[in-house]
Amino acid sequence: MSRRVTATIDLGALRRNLARIGERCPQSRVMAVVKADGYGHGLERVARALAAADAFGVASIADGERIRAIGLDNRVVVLSGIDEPGDLALMRQYRLEPVIHHQQQLAWLEADPDRRPLPVWLKADTGMHRLGFAPDQVQAAYRRLAALPQIAGRIQLMSHFARSDEFGQATTADQIGQFQAAIDGLPGPVSLANSAAILGWPASHRDWLRAGGLLYGVSVVAGRSGADFGFEPAMTLSARVVAIRQLRAGDAVGYGGAWTCPQDMAIGVVAIGYGDGYPRLARAGTPVHLHGRPAAIVGRVSMDLLTIDLRGHPQAAVGNEVMLWGPGLPVETIGEGAGTLGYELICGMTRRVDFIEIDQGS
Ligand SMILES: *Cc1c(COP(=O)(O)O)cnc(C)c1O
Repeated sequence: MSRRVTATIDLGALRRNLARIGERCPQSRVMAVVKADGYGHGLERVARALAAADAFGVASIADGERIRAIGLDNRVVVLSGIDEPGDLALMRQYRLEPVIHHQQQLAWLEADPDRRPLPVWLKADTGMHRLGFAPDQVQAAYRRLAALPQIAGRIQLMSHFARSDEFGQATTADQIGQFQAAIDGLPGPVSLANSAAILGWPASHRDWLRAGGLLYGVSVVAGRSGADFGFEPAMTLSARVVAIRQLRAGDAVGYGGAWTCPQDMAIGVVAIGYGDGYPRLARAGTPVHLHGRPAAIVGRVSMDLLTIDLRGHPQAAVGNEVMLWGPGLPVETIGEGAGTLGYELICGMTRRVDFIEIDQGS
């Protein structure tokens, strides 16, 4: 096959990462966050692999519908709740649980004539300042929800952290304190921790964890990969060498002539680029793996191709597979070098990337 860019998803890695979270936090239930098409790994395949999760967290009703369509009956929480009154009927149809985070949503619920039970999550804003009721509005919102016959006794309490990846920062401890004060006296299961808080903030491990990145083996903690915390990357991105060029000292490589050969040398041309989701801003020096050893990108990443330095790889041949990220080459490292996060890269595979599944033993 000529041009083949492959994202290989290891279902075993997904399962083991879920189990690792359970081992770290045996007292908590796990909501597996599968928004953005399972962090770019494919929603259905991820949800099937993680069917042991106590619940799934999604960003849209459509994602909940996709989980039901493959026959899974785990609880499903829609993290941004309802966007219009008609969403309530869909929530019921697909047995989804909305997060209620602002007054308008409360009003829609109160106006809803359907009295069949609907579990909800009440979100407090404790410092992220994105979604959620201000701390001094939480008690009133809770009372309004609890007064509804369809809701009574089914209110879960949650908040989200802004800086839990910074283990030395007081903000997360402050947010936990704000949350405790806001929900004082209210019954109901509590959910605070995202992946970084699972790693760094044990005080946030309450009834429910909301784990995203760690399930995929990816960390947002600066300078540390998921592997550094004992998790396995679930995605391996690979492409092929399609040409090997012998260039002369002084030859400039790629758009803008941004990199110049310091000596006579071989360059490998690899058939992957930003049109596949590999970051254009990856700088010269960014590593790829060829035959399990690093080779450095030289010149600019273009739409379909990138170029690598083959000094030190005399055995390289056309057709060789090159790994762009995966086990031993964290996507977090590539993200950091390109001014972004591993999260953004794994979410950004384009439609011309082939996804394949493997189920590797640990
Ligand atoms: C995305 C998301 C999570 C998961 O975050 P990770 O850092 O990937 O673990 C948890 N809670 C909410 C509300 C989210 O939007």
